[in-house]
Amino acid sequence: MKLLVAKSAGFCFGVKRAIDMAIEAAKKYPKNLYTLGPLIHNPQAVKFLEQLGVKVKNRIENIPKGKVIFRSHGVSLKDLEKAREKRLHIIDATCPIVKKAQFFAKYLYRHGYTVLIVGDPHHPEVEAIQSYIKDRVEVVGDVELVQRSGPWEKLGIIAQTTQSFNLFKGIVTASLEKAKEVRVFNTVCHATMIRQKEAVEIAKQVECMIVIGGYNSGNTQRLAAICREIQPHTHHIETAQELNPRWLSRREKIGLTAGASTPLWIIKEVEGRIRDLEGSRN
Ligand code: SF4
Repeated sequence: MKLLVAKSAGFCFGVKRAIDMAIEAAKKYPKNLYTLGPLIHNPQAVKFLEQLGVKVKNRIENIPKGKVIFRSHGVSLKDLEKAREKRLHIIDATCPIVKKAQFFAKYLYRHGYTVLIVGDPHHPEVEAIQSYIKDRVEVVGDVELVQRSGPWEKLGIIAQTTQSFNLFKGIVTASLEKAKEVRVFNTVCHATMIRQKEAVEIAKQVECMIVIGGYNSGNTQRLAAICREIQPHTHHIETAQELNPRWLSRREKIGLTAGASTPLWIIKEVEGRIRDLEGSRN
């Protein structure tokens, strides 16, 4: 059996940076260190940080005092203001690429555009971006919604950084018929585009695709969905223990990739388990 492992699998730059900042902060501040929401969408990595003393609080109101780490997909303006009011020490791990998406949203708004964010309205990154704009903002997750919306005079389009690039292109194309003027900033993260492209290439070649990452991770869910469109035998798992030997039996080529918030140690465990299962087959 041949195992094709995506080179782009695992932590992206922004997630690695956030984890490194949290580890560094845990060394410096052994007490009263919190993240606002789980630092990344991976329960195993969050547990690891908890063991270092980094506690998760979902609301600023629940942080009594001390330091708060803002996660890679950013925080809303309200939470930022509340943290300042409470005089919490802020460790801002917002990914610089997400900051850029926030900047473009504000820029478009200031210049009179209705801002269209291609993304999931319930994702914290999108909620945070929206919070910096007062009104004239819409979030769309599919082309049909754009076809039913509008018309607009001036439309500015950005994307949630981990959105599918193809969906972004589709929505930009559809919007051309609905607005007099369209201004586009491609804020889909390059790391996401590479990961999705590589996953597609691998999925085309294999008989079964394994996608590793938190079930609460939007970018992993999207990666699995993209692979499934090409290879219906695609399985999304969180840990090596979830790997079902039946998925792999009688397969000659297996593909493996992982979301941006999946730690390397989990990818290695899954890879090892696949190789063990293969060994027991021979
Ligand atoms: S996926 Fe891209 S934008 Fe999002 S945290 Fe990672 S590097 Fe930053």
